[in-house]
Amino acid sequence: MATKTVKELAKDSKITTDVLLKQLKNAGLPIRGEDDAVSTDEQATLVAFLKQSHGQAQKTRIGMTQKTTTTKKITTTTGKAQNINVVRAKKKQFDIQKPDLVADQAKVQAEHEAKKAKAIAALEAKQNEERAKQEATKRQEATLAAMRANSGNTNDSEHKPSASVVVKKVKKDNADTDSIVSSTVVKKGLAVKSGVKTDKKEGKSDKAKKQSAKPIKSETEKERQARLAREIEEQKLREIEAENRRRAAIDAQNRTLEQMKQMANRYSEKDDVPSAVVRKDEPLAAGLVGAALEESFEKERREIKRGTGTAASRAKGGKKKGKEELEIRPKSRGLKSSQASKHKFEMPLEKIIHNVEVGEQIVVSDLAQKMAVKVREVVKSLMKMGEMVRESDVIDQTTAALVIEEFGHNFVAVSDTQLEDDLQEAAIEKQGNVQIRPPVVTIMGHVDHGKTSLLDKIRETKVASGEAGGITQHIGAYHVETDRGVITFLDTPGHAAFTAMRSRGAQATDIVVIVVAADDGVMPQTEEAIDHARAAGTPIIIAMNKMDKDTTDPERVLNELSVKEVITDAWGGDTSLVKVSAKTGMGIDELLDTISIQAEIMELTAPVDGAAQGVVIESRLDKGRGAVASLLVKKGTLKQGDLVLAGEFYGKVRAMTDENGGRIKSAGPSIPVEILGLPDAPMAGSEFLVVSDEKKAREVADFRIARERERLIERQNKMRLENMFANMGSEAKTLNLILKTDVRGSLEALLGALDDLSTDEVKVRVISSGVGAITESDVILAESSEAVLLGFNVRADTAGKRKADEAGLDIRYYSVIYGLIDDVKAAMSGMLAPEHREKILGVAEVRDVFRSSKFGAAAGCMVQEGTIYRNKPIRVLRDDKVIFTGQLQSLRRYKDDVNEVKAGMECGLAVKGYDVAVGDKIEVFEIHEVARTL
Ligand code: GDP
Repeated sequence: MATKTVKELAKDSKITTDVLLKQLKNAGLPIRGEDDAVSTDEQATLVAFLKQSHGQAQKTRIGMTQKTTTTKKITTTTGKAQNINVVRAKKKQFDIQKPDLVADQAKVQAEHEAKKAKAIAALEAKQNEERAKQEATKRQEATLAAMRANSGNTNDSEHKPSASVVVKKVKKDNADTDSIVSSTVVKKGLAVKSGVKTDKKEGKSDKAKKQSAKPIKSETEKERQARLAREIEEQKLREIEAENRRRAAIDAQNRTLEQMKQMANRYSEKDDVPSAVVRKDEPLAAGLVGAALEESFEKERREIKRGTGTAASRAKGGKKKGKEELEIRPKSRGLKSSQASKHKFEMPLEKIIHNVEVGEQIVVSDLAQKMAVKVREVVKSLMKMGEMVRESDVIDQTTAALVIEEFGHNFVAVSDTQLEDDLQEAAIEKQGNVQIRPPVVTIMGHVDHGKTSLLDKIRETKVASGEAGGITQHIGAYHVETDRGVITFLDTPGHAAFTAMRSRGAQATDIVVIVVAADDGVMPQTEEAIDHARAAGTPIIIAMNKMDKDTTDPERVLNELSVKEVITDAWGGDTSLVKVSAKTGMGIDELLDTISIQAEIMELTAPVDGAAQGVVIESRLDKGRGAVASLLVKKGTLKQGDLVLAGEFYGKVRAMTDENGGRIKSAGPSIPVEILGLPDAPMAGSEFLVVSDEKKAREVADFRIARERERLIERQNKMRLENMFANMGSEAKTLNLILKTDVRGSLEALLGALDDLSTDEVKVRVISSGVGAITESDVILAESSEAVLLGFNVRADTAGKRKADEAGLDIRYYSVIYGLIDDVKAAMSGMLAPEHREKILGVAEVRDVFRSSKFGAAAGCMVQEGTIYRNKPIRVLRDDKVIFTGQLQSLRRYKDDVNEVKAGMECGLAVKGYDVAVGDKIEVFEIHEVARTL
């Protein structure tokens, strides 16, 4: 503040000098004239006085709290990062400038006047401006009305405009422009509230009032302009919103349509008809297409419900549709009934057509199951065809096909070996490294010509000697090392084994050695062996055996061979002949050499690497070790731990041994091994292969079980037929057998082998077979049907044995398949010309002789060996010579009559028609009808 005159100060303060002089006087300052100087101190005193006189400060200090928010990252106690808002509150003081109440009233008034004049001038200027805008507003109103008419939203004036009320009110307050302005503001709110909608009518009434309330009218119109503009805006917004909603709906429709299209495409991938095209900018069309598609779906559903949903009817239905629908018709046709039913489960009233796969044959009940029909319906259908079958019977593929057609399903012929073929192919792919492999040799020939002796001799000279401490194991095959390489022999001689293997498709043998006894020549089984080898296309080597004997006649043998068209090299032919003696070992090396040379000519090779494949040579169930199987590897390498599928069984190779009982870890081509780890004994001749996938192994095993079941049932049927044939009075002789075995596998193998034995002269008929002990009922059946009882790895139970003894029936026990087969063969030839051989059953020594009035001479004896039977023939031996042949009159143990007395026991006996003496031996024997050895 600087020193100023009163005049200057008054001017600065915008008050008159008089007012200032008065204030200075009131403040007690000694200043009288308008040109007097007012010092800064005096000015301050004046201000303090004025403040005091008004009782309030000109400025007010107010406090406000200012908040600032920042985001901070923290780590919580659980270790998680989290953002938190930090609010900082800060108190701040503000000076508020209050209205200058100190100002002079006159100054305030003057200012007021000036403002008033300014406002009036501004209003007048605006009036003119508003008038100019009038026309433009009218045009806007017209546009709005047109738009409303277009959108069907025409709204005639339902209420009188409140503008007139406003005008009246304003007129009252006309004197004060400020009041007018504030009143207008208030009324503006009312007007907006009560007259949102406007129209031409309203415009007219406004016009009419223009004269009486011009300035006010101008204000009202301005408001109307604003309102109209706002309404136009709002209308535009509403339209934009409506447009957006419409677009959203179209988009949603299009999306649904797209999904439907995709669904349709999924179910009709092969349908190359172009899918419906819907332009997004054509909402109407899109909606129609969507609706049409939905309608077509609905039609599908209806058709399915009616059971008429065929492709043809669907296509037909599509053609009936309109133009727009034509677009989507192809998709509709592409939809499968199954797809439509996916939306909602519908009970299929349409018959389901199955593709029924049938192999070479099928069990009736299985066929029914595959067609999903009741088995009795299938039996009925077969009966109509003249086939009298039961549900457990097997029918062939052709019959099955007829039944399947009859039931309206599709017959699909499948190869019985498809699954296995696939598995084998997979195994073959993994094999590699093809190398020369040892030959596999089978020795065949007539009985007693020396097959076993020859095999033993080769083994003895070539294997046992070289294996220190090795215990010879008969595992069905063995291999020998020669100067020319390894040779593997199958040690189950005879063509039955060879044939059994072949019948199972296992061509295990490379070379056949036919043994002919030089003193006996070509015999029936020699001829059969030649036939079998030829049928298999296997090269033959003739081993002329027993050359150590004096009675040999090689020329005769060569002659007989030539009759069978076997021309040996000795006669300039191409069949090798080696003269040997199984007894002395003569010619054995030469025989092995000949085999090796033959193998070299054949160039036998096999892949060494990869999963092993081969054939089951033998198998049995061992009490302690479980299933024991002898396998001959043909391809690849078999390793311990491999998963082997053999016949119907599969399991991991737990242990492997060679023919000398030695543990081995792997076996390559042509090497025989015995393995543990299968759950059951597979049939001899079954193929085996190593599989990587247990699932596949199970699948094939299940398939094989089913196939074997079919074969078994078929065989039973055959038996019934054979039975009928026999009853019809065929002159062919029949050998009846009753066969019981330990496991089904061996039963099947035996039945298969026995089936093949039947000839024109003699039929082999298994009248009953099964797994388990020979029972009393088996024996009764054997008795009534004159059948031979055969037990393979099983014995008769107590009741069965007693019954068999009572009936005097023989039960034959076997543990090797080929032993049984050979015996049956022998029995068959025996039936042609039976040969009697006797067998000693028991021997008792006479210790005491006493006279009996009833029996004459009675002897007190001790049974030394075997069993003494009451009903069997006896011989009385004195000094190792037969002195009497006859029968026992009585056999007693103490005072009881008994049927038999065993070794180690005392007994009393009387010989019919002969008086025995102390020291005599009583020999009980029986006569066997045995095969004739020609
Ligand atoms: P397989 O039925 O063909 O197996 O014949 P075997 O090997 O059982 O022999 C039958 C009989 O002939 C036995 O008694 C043998 O001892 C005998 N035998 C085998 N080979 C010879 C041989 O080379 N010389 C002599 N002298 N006897 C032999």
